Amino acid sequence: MASQNNKSLKICVIGAGMGGLTAALGLAKEGFSDIQVFEAASDLGFVGAGIQLAPNMSRILDRLDVWKDIEREAVILRETSIREGATDKELGHVDLAYIEETYHYPHMVGHRHSLANGLYNGCKKQKSITFHFSTRVENVDSTTAKPTFTATPRGKDPYAVECDVLLAADGIKSLARIEVLKQLGAEAEVTDSKQAAYRIMLDRSQIESDPELLALIDTEGVTRWIGEKRHIIAYPISNKTIYNLSTTQPDINFAAAPSETYTTKGSKKVMLEVFSDFCPKVLRMLNLVPEGEVCEWKLRVHSPLPTWIHGSLALIGDACHPTLPHMAQGAAQAIEDAAVVAVVLGLVPDTSPESINKALRVYEKIRKERAEMLVELAAASARQLHLGSGKAKEERDRQFAELRAKGGKASVPDKWADADVQKTVYGVDCVKIAREEFDEIFKSLD
Ligand SMILES: Cc1cc2nc3c(=O)[nH]c(=O)nc-3n(C[C@H](O)[C@H](O)[C@H](O)COP(=O)(O)OP(=O)(O)OC[C@H]3O[C@@H](n4cnc5c(N)ncnc54)[C@H](O)[C@@H]3O)c2cc1C
Repeated sequence: MASQNNKSLKICVIGAGMGGLTAALGLAKEGFSDIQVFEAASDLGFVGAGIQLAPNMSRILDRLDVWKDIEREAVILRETSIREGATDKELGHVDLAYIEETYHYPHMVGHRHSLANGLYNGCKKQKSITFHFSTRVENVDSTTAKPTFTATPRGKDPYAVECDVLLAADGIKSLARIEVLKQLGAEAEVTDSKQAAYRIMLDRSQIESDPELLALIDTEGVTRWIGEKRHIIAYPISNKTIYNLSTTQPDINFAAAPSETYTTKGSKKVMLEVFSDFCPKVLRMLNLVPEGEVCEWKLRVHSPLPTWIHGSLALIGDACHPTLPHMAQGAAQAIEDAAVVAVVLGLVPDTSPESINKALRVYEKIRKERAEMLVELAAASARQLHLGSGKAKEERDRQFAELRAKGGKASVPDKWADADVQKTVYGVDCVKIAREEFDEIFKSLD
């Protein structure tokens, strides 16, 4: 039902994060000839940290022909060990090796740099994609048939841009989201998770002389140490040359900070105090972080939006469903959004604003419920992991005991590692659903 002339639509993308890069590449692969990406930063501006590459993400990256390069540096996770932070005692051990057999891609972990660069290199091969770095987008207006905005290149004069479709992948601080909500007269607030995270990368050379730490970087596994209101997740990345740690702890530093503050230089002394009751192995790793290089992130989420679509504008990724990292699905979900949006636009039957809006609503129908389910699941999983003493913790620890007794084949309180949950996350192919169900959903919309 798709028309040929839909491929000449001018499509603008705000943001060259995981969502924006995937959208641009997906659209180019669908045959669109005019894709413009506007990015405020001067380059990809990636965070120096690891990222989990789950099968639902890899499947999409593979279809876009960028997976092989990303995979080359990534590390396979074959197991996960969930341990008591204070004692290092293993609470649960789960096999992840089955994932490759079941979902056709292993669960892997990599450097954000590899993921972002892999996508960017894929985009650079496409003549139809133009990048505008160091260019900030403002004054987004999607109330007219063609979305308009102001683009301001750093140090140069602003200019007006009009396009046929605007995809806002501008992250958790999304300006487009604010504009859309304003235009709709709707309210949806950034909500405070009361959690913050330190992101740490240890070089292999820093831990080489410590056999216990060396064993950690040499495993093909992820370890989670849990304690009251805190946990640390850690795994090797970049062909095991880096050991990556990501913590979660109660937010103290950002509590009084303005809502747009997301990162801050942390104090090593405070970081060590926060985890002072964790086992010596963990503390030795935290101690290796050089003074002055502690970086803390505020973890913010957003209450569900009434809609992700306004006219010919669609929100993508963290702009519409920022999620806590405890399911390791934020970027994966942004990538699913982007891939689906590219498919539905590729299938739009004509270039009228009405049909574009309907196609974008097909995207929303396929993606919104699933992404919001994962936002909730990530928050729920953290509640389980962070329990203090009491009945709920006793029940959680009983489940861990049952998991051990059943050799890792039972419900896992750490939802990320639960096979039933993995089935709903890794086993669902949103892009396939979009291709197969587009016509029917499109027709059902008025
Ligand atoms: C501690 C932590 C660990 C995580 N671990 C994982 C993990 O293991 N796996 C996983 O899948 N996810 C993980 N995530 C989540 C993941 O990082 C995000 O969900 C993902 O990066 C969102 O991608 P995005 O493209 O939507 O937004 P972003 O990556 O935030 O990209 C938005 C882009 O838009 C640009 N931009 C913003 N405003 C403008 C503007 N006005 N004009 C032009 N450009 C603009 C920004 O500069 C940025 O480049 C983690 C998050 C945290 C905090």
